[in-house]
Amino acid sequence: MKAIQVREFGGPEQLKLEEIPTPKPTAGQVLVRVHAAGVNPYDTYMRAGTYAVKPPLPYTPGSDAAGVVEAVGEGVKKFKAGDRVYTASTITGAYAEYCLALENQVQPLPPGISFPQGAGVHVPYATAYHALHHEAKTCASETVLIHGASGGVGTAAIQIARNFGLTVFGTAGSAKGIELIKREGVHQAFDHAKPDYTDEIMKATGGRGVDVILEMLANVNLAKDLKLLAIHGRVIIIGNRGEITLNPRDFMLRRSSARGFTLWALTEAEAADCFAGINAGLANGTLRPIVAKELPLKDAPQAHLDVLAPGASGKIVLTT
Ligand code: NAP
Repeated sequence: MKAIQVREFGGPEQLKLEEIPTPKPTAGQVLVRVHAAGVNPYDTYMRAGTYAVKPPLPYTPGSDAAGVVEAVGEGVKKFKAGDRVYTASTITGAYAEYCLALENQVQPLPPGISFPQGAGVHVPYATAYHALHHEAKTCASETVLIHGASGGVGTAAIQIARNFGLTVFGTAGSAKGIELIKREGVHQAFDHAKPDYTDEIMKATGGRGVDVILEMLANVNLAKDLKLLAIHGRVIIIGNRGEITLNPRDFMLRRSSARGFTLWALTEAEAADCFAGINAGLANGTLRPIVAKELPLKDAPQAHLDVLAPGASGKIVLTT
C-alpha cells in the first residue's frame, strides 16, 4: 500500500510517500481502507520531534482516518467488512491507504457524513466536546468565547455550543474565517487581528465579561483572556505554542480559573461520553465537520504547511 513515512524528525520534507506492506488485522483489530485522513496541528509537532510523544522511527503520521472496514481480526464484534467508520487513533497511522486500529479506536460513520468530513471528526470534536462539557462544565445560560473559532476545533466547538444552547462568541483572523464562523452560528464574531477586538468583546457582554473561553493560542492570549472573564469565569487552554506572563490578581478579582488538558489523557468514561455526544450529533445532522481543503496523500508536506498558516476555514484533509 501507499503510505506517508517519516524516517527522521524534521521539516515537512520528511513526509515521504512510500510503498510499504499492507498490515493484516490480528485479534481485536480492524483494518480500515482509508479514504481520507485528517491533518491536525499536533501531527506537525510530532513530525518535527518537538511533541511530548515521540514515536519510534519510521512511522506513518495521523490519527484521524475515515473509510470502510476491509477486514476484522478474531473477536471483533462491533464491526464487519464494508462498514463505514472513522478512527479515534490508530495503531499504524492514518496517512495511508490502509490503517489498523483497535476495535475501541473505531467508531461508526453515519451515511450523511462524507469520508473527508469523517476525517475531521475525532481530534477536533472530541477536544471541543471535552472542553465544553467536562472541563468548563458549561450551562446553557452561559456565554462562551471560542478564541480561534475558524479552525478544526473552533468550528466543532461552535456547533456543539450552539446545540447546547450557549451564547457563542467567536474570533477569526481573516474575512473568510469571520464569514465561516458566522455561517456556523456564532452570535457575534470578532477579528483577533484587530488591535481593539477585546474591547469589542467586553462591550458585547455589557461589561460583565464572558463565562468561558476556549483558548486556541494561550501563549498569545491568556493574559488578555483573564481580563475578559466574568466572575467565576474559566479559561480552558486547548492550544499553546510558548510561554506567557500572567498577573495572578486577575484571577483574584474574578474568582476565575484557567486549566488545560490533552485529549490523549481523557479517562475511559470521558471518552465514552464524547463518542456518545458526537456520534448522536453526526447522526442527527447537528454536527457537520467543515472541510476547507482536500489534498492528495502525496501532498502531505503542503498540508503540514497549510495547517499552521493563518486564515483557517475548517479542516485540511488528505485523500487516498
Ligand atoms: P487549526 O484548524 O489550524 O486552527 C487554528 C485556529 O487558531 C484558527 O481558528 C486560527 O484563526 C486561530 N488563531 C490564530 N491566531 C490566533 C490568535 N492570535 N488568537 C486566537 N486564535 C488564533 O487548528 P485546530 O485543529 O483548531 O487546533 C487549534 C489549537 O489547539 C492548535 O494549537 C492545536 O495544536 C491545539 N489542540 C490541542 C488539543 C488538546 O488536546 N489540548 C487537541 C486539538 C488541538 P485564524 O487562522 O482565522 O487566524
